[in-house]
Amino acid sequence: MTVASPASLYSDLDVEWTLDAPLAPHTWYGVGGRADVLIRPRSLEALTTLVRRCRRDDVPLRVLGSGANLLVDDEGVDGVVVKLDMPFFKAVEWNVDGRVERLRAFGGAAMEQLVQQCARRGVRGLEQMSGIPASVGGAIRMNAGGKFGAIGDAVDAVAVLGLDGEVRVYPREEIHFGYRHTSIPHGIIVWASFRVAEDDPIACRERVLEIFAYKKSTQPMGAASAGCMFRNPTMPDGKVESAGRLIDLAGMKGTRVGAAIVSPRHGNFLAFDKEWNIGTDEGSAGASSVASRTDDMRRLVEMVQDAVRAKFGVELETEVVFWRRGERP
Ligand SMILES: Cc1cc2nc3c(=O)[nH]c(=O)nc-3n(C[C@H](O)[C@H](O)[C@H](O)COP(=O)(O)OP(=O)(O)OC[C@H]3O[C@@H](n4cnc5c(N)ncnc54)[C@H](O)[C@@H]3O)c2cc1C
Repeated sequence: MTVASPASLYSDLDVEWTLDAPLAPHTWYGVGGRADVLIRPRSLEALTTLVRRCRRDDVPLRVLGSGANLLVDDEGVDGVVVKLDMPFFKAVEWNVDGRVERLRAFGGAAMEQLVQQCARRGVRGLEQMSGIPASVGGAIRMNAGGKFGAIGDAVDAVAVLGLDGEVRVYPREEIHFGYRHTSIPHGIIVWASFRVAEDDPIACRERVLEIFAYKKSTQPMGAASAGCMFRNPTMPDGKVESAGRLIDLAGMKGTRVGAAIVSPRHGNFLAFDKEWNIGTDEGSAGASSVASRTDDMRRLVEMVQDAVRAKFGVELETEVVFWRRGERP
C-alpha cells in the first residue's frame, strides 16, 4: 500500500474496499500482482465522488471488467482499481420506455449472461457476443466481437462517467466503432442501451448456440488466455491479415517461455500452461516461478513480434491491455 491511495479517498463512501488486493483471481490469465486498493462501489454517487477525488489528488484510477483482456504486471498496479460488480452496476433493464426494442445494461453486467437472457426472452441483437467473456463496459471499451459482428453494431447509446466526475450520454451517431476500438472518451462506462428486436426464442437460442459452436471449434476457449493477443495487422499491400496466420507461418505455434505458450491450436492465443510448474524441476528451480509468470508472457510476446517482423516486415500490436505499476492508465 502506497501513500498514493489514502483511505480518505473512499472510507466514507458507500463502497467495499480491499487493501493490497490480489488481481490474479479477477483476470482470465490468473496471474499478476496486487492493486494498492480494489474498490467496489455500491452506487453511482459513490463512484462519482471517488472519481472526482482521484482526479483532485492525482491518484491513478483503473477500471476492471471481467479481466478477459488484461495482463497485470507481476508488481501489480498503483492507485485505485474499481470493479463494478455490486448489484447496482450489474443491472439489466428490459423494455425500457415500455418498448421491447430498448434494453439497458449497466457496465458490470456479464455479457455471457446477457446473451443467454436475451435468447430465453426471444430478444435478438446481441447474439454476435456469444462465447465472448466480458462485462458490458469492457466489451464496449474494446468493441469486442468477431466473425459474426461486434457489440458496437447493437449499441444505441453509452453513458460514460468522465474523469472530471460528470456523466455524459453519447448517442450511437456520435460514437465511432472500429476494429477492437471505439471513439468513446476515456472514463468509466456506466451503462449502455442497445437496439434489439423481438424474435422467436427458439430461433434466438439456435443462433447463439451456432455462434458459440463456431467459436469453440476454432479457438482454445478453455486455455488461461485473454483471447487474441495481437490485433490483425494491415500488410504493406493494404490488406488486413490474420495475426494468427502470420504467427503460424513464422513457425511460432507451440513456442514457450516458462509457463507462457503460443497455443498449438490458434497462433494468436498466447496462454499460460496451468500444469507447467507443478512438480517439475524446471518449474520449481527455474526463473519462472508462479510469481514471475507475467514476465514470461511479456518475453513471449516480444519473441512473437520479432519473428513476425523478421519474416513479414510487419509490426504486431497487442490487443490485450497491459497494466503496469507507475504507468498512467
Ligand atoms: C477465451 C477468450 C476468448 C475471447 N474471444 C474474444 C473474441 O472472440 N472477440 C473479442 O473481441 N474479444 C475476445 N476476447 C477478449 C475479451 O473477451 C474482450 O476484450 C472483452 O471485451 C473484455 O471485457 P472485460 O470486461 O473482460 O474487460 P477487461 O479485460 O476487464 O478490461 C479490458 C479493458 O476495458 C476497460 N474496461 C473494463 N470495464 C470498463 C468500463 N466499465 N468502462 C470503461 N473501461 C472499461 C479496462 O480498463 C481495460 O482497459 C476473448 C477473451 C478470452 C479469455
